[in-house]
Amino acid sequence: MSQPTGAPEVSSLADLFAVAFQIEADAVERYEVLAAQMETHNNPDLAAIFRDLARAEAIHRDEIRRLAGDIDVVSRAREVAKWSRGESPEEVDLGAAHYMMTPRHALELALAGEQRALAFFQAAAASASDPQIKRMAEEFVEEEAEHVNLVHRLLAKYPPPSPSWSEDPDPPSSQG
Ligand code: ZN
Repeated sequence: MSQPTGAPEVSSLADLFAVAFQIEADAVERYEVLAAQMETHNNPDLAAIFRDLARAEAIHRDEIRRLAGDIDVVSRAREVAKWSRGESPEEVDLGAAHYMMTPRHALELALAGEQRALAFFQAAAASASDPQIKRMAEEFVEEEAEHVNLVHRLLAKYPPPSPSWSEDPDPPSSQG
């Protein structure tokens, strides 16, 4: 099947809403953490961008809850939106919220989250046999694709970190 390994199976519209709700809720949290990081590192511009993204994702989250109507997405998400370790879009490694995190790195974490969300909905859309689930998944694909593009545009504004920024530093000889 085309579902990513370890991703929740979506076999009903309720499941799709539940997983989508969880993905958006996690995205809100992620952007808030990244915004706080950028505030700490005196990058108010990027902090503001992340706050805006958190707000946008929160609007989506609430919209999904509204679309879901009678379905209790919060408790359903707890049952359905179980991911194998390292597979969840939420698990953009917030542990990597490094004390030296650069704007570039923050954006890369944001991109990874958006790409994983996109991949999930693409797989859900591709594998759905129910046209209603397929249509809804395709709408989510469009939204996430926009987020991916947005983060790509932001990344273009921030150059890659210097080679000395690394978990395993290999300092430039000029510093020696
Ligand atoms: Zn998104």
